[in-house]
Amino acid sequence: MKMFSLKWSFAGLAACSVLSVSAQEQKQYPEQEAMRPGMSEYWTPQPKIVTPGNPATNSAPSDAIVLFDGKDLSAWENSKGEAAGWDVHDGVVTVNKKAGDIQTKEKFGSFQLHIEWCVPQMDAQFTSQFRGNSGVYLQGMYEVQVLDNYNNETYVNGQAGSIYKQTPPMANAMRKPGEWNVYDIIYTAPVFKEDGTYLYRPRVTVIQNGVVLQNNTEILGTTEYIGFPQVKKHGDGPIILQSHGDPSPGISFRNIWIRKM
Ligand code: MG
Repeated sequence: MKMFSLKWSFAGLAACSVLSVSAQEQKQYPEQEAMRPGMSEYWTPQPKIVTPGNPATNSAPSDAIVLFDGKDLSAWENSKGEAAGWDVHDGVVTVNKKAGDIQTKEKFGSFQLHIEWCVPQMDAQFTSQFRGNSGVYLQGMYEVQVLDNYNNETYVNGQAGSIYKQTPPMANAMRKPGEWNVYDIIYTAPVFKEDGTYLYRPRVTVIQNGVVLQNNTEILGTTEYIGFPQVKKHGDGPIILQSHGDPSPGISFRNIWIRKM
């Protein structure tokens, strides 16, 4: 009798299961709604309106911080926090090598930087790193090389547009001495771990005269003249322009502006 009862129980369960699947098959669900264009579009927030600069007048975009407009170095100081001692003349600023590096008073995180530079005509005796050497330091830590590499070879990870002693540029896009070169630099600041190492390394895109030299390149650490990159925890930092100790005539800069990102 007991066996009989169990047998019927199994049979009952099996019957229920069949009924359940069958009921589910018969249940009607709404059909997936067909996609319409508006389903994947959103309208807010709208990007802020930025009036572009005018290349004819070298004006900056409307939301840029103008760091040098040809008139004065009020946005700059030397490494001791004193007045920047470079020579402003004819709408440009020329390196005064005796005065040392200059740096922005304001500190920056991630940014878009526009800076134009011109190497003067000079004697052929100045070669390699001793020809129009300067540099743009990002957050005061990482040098994008400035150098006259027009018919002037040097170690490739030290030429114009290199992340100095780390990553060579992908091209040599130099204009002749006496002509203006344009750097547009897009920089993403690093994120550090508690222990001071990078969680995310700094990254940089460098465009010279419309030619990409660095494409979102990871920066490995500080750009040392002697030795390998060092990782040093830091926050926002200034743009530093290098006064290099080589004996060649100092280069000039103009039309410098920056947009925070
Ligand atoms: Mg340099």
